[in-house]
Amino acid sequence: MKEILLLKYGEVVLKGANKSVFENAMVRDIKRKVADCGNFSVSRCQSTVFVEPLDDFADIDGALEACKKVFGIVSICRAAVCDKDMDSILKTVKEYIPEYLTGCRTFKADAKRSDKKFPLKSPQIAAEVGGAVLSAAGGIRVDVKNPDIVVMVEIRETSAYVHAGKIRGAGGMPQGSSGRGLLLLSGGIDSPVAGYMMAKRGVEIEALHFESFPYTSERAREKVFELARILSGYTSGIKVHVISLTKIQEELKNNCEEDYFTLLLRRFMMHLAQRVAELYNCKAIITGESLAQVASQTMQAIAVTDAAVDMPVFRPAIGLDKEEIIRIAREIGTFETSILPFEDCCTVFTPRHPRTKPELEKVMAQENRVDFATLADEAFQSMYTVEIKP
Ligand code: ATP
Ligand code: MG
Repeated sequence: MKEILLLKYGEVVLKGANKSVFENAMVRDIKRKVADCGNFSVSRCQSTVFVEPLDDFADIDGALEACKKVFGIVSICRAAVCDKDMDSILKTVKEYIPEYLTGCRTFKADAKRSDKKFPLKSPQIAAEVGGAVLSAAGGIRVDVKNPDIVVMVEIRETSAYVHAGKIRGAGGMPQGSSGRGLLLLSGGIDSPVAGYMMAKRGVEIEALHFESFPYTSERAREKVFELARILSGYTSGIKVHVISLTKIQEELKNNCEEDYFTLLLRRFMMHLAQRVAELYNCKAIITGESLAQVASQTMQAIAVTDAAVDMPVFRPAIGLDKEEIIRIAREIGTFETSILPFEDCCTVFTPRHPRTKPELEKVMAQENRVDFATLADEAFQSMYTVEIKP
């Protein structure tokens, strides 16, 4: 029996004159993501994207998994395709639906008819479909209020589609439809989640990682590339720029008061991030900060770091608890990699008593003890880029 995937849009449905821009972005993303699964045609009609295998070798299970990572799609139906007449529809229901009913005690039949020329109305179709389900499967009964499963027939332009329920899609806005942002990617739990959250809102992600060789190791760097690889499954490729902070950290250690190390380092990071963002046409910086999580994430500390840049800084995890961040990290598959125990540059030379209510003037006075411009230039010139593919 021929199967197809029907992908339903989320918020994009509400768009006005520019709706097709978002739809096209989604179709492009889907095409790219199912390309590895064989020959598929991807087309759209009536706020649905149709992903249709073109030969027997096309891997529909793989395509379904790939489509779960497409932003902008809220639900996916795996459906059997049949002709638009009641005989074919009922035959398909009887053959296709029983395997989905295992473990279900109740069901509801439903129908949607976007082809208004179809001779039966939706309630009539649903009644016949319900009868077909009852005759094909024993021991199941109808419950229209709270069914275990909904058996659905959709009558559309060229064919009818029979399916048994929706699978949750990734939600959000189509990939790249919100422009490009630069994610500050460490090896921790929070920053990959922050990147995912912004990618979900349609931001194309480019990443910047700071290392501090030899204080941080080769394996710490590999871990970050692995996190980028997992994220790239959602975005279809991420460039990771890497900058060394070794000299900056040593200069700060030798010249500034210990209590200010982290803040001073974070200001260097933000300054460098802005330069990278400008170079690669990113319109915002993204970090994994969460309010009050650590000393450098108090309101005052965030104000001091923000003062080092003049572009928007997105912190999507700012209002999330660690538990909530971890839940997302598990869902998107980054958690297990994030907890591998490797040093981050932020954990090198950490102050024993970091300032939690810093004043910008005092921070600036400390910053003036080093040659900020030269150190930043040198660090910026040390940058190299690795392209990560899913
Ligand atoms: P995570 O890195 O997951 O947030 P964390 O909470 O330990 O773990 P912090 O040291 O609090 O990280 O850093 C806050 C944010 O600063 C990170 O979310 C990340 O966006 C950025 N950041 C920290 N270290 C680095 C790094 N080595 N390279 C790039 N960005 C970093
Ligand atoms: Mg954090």
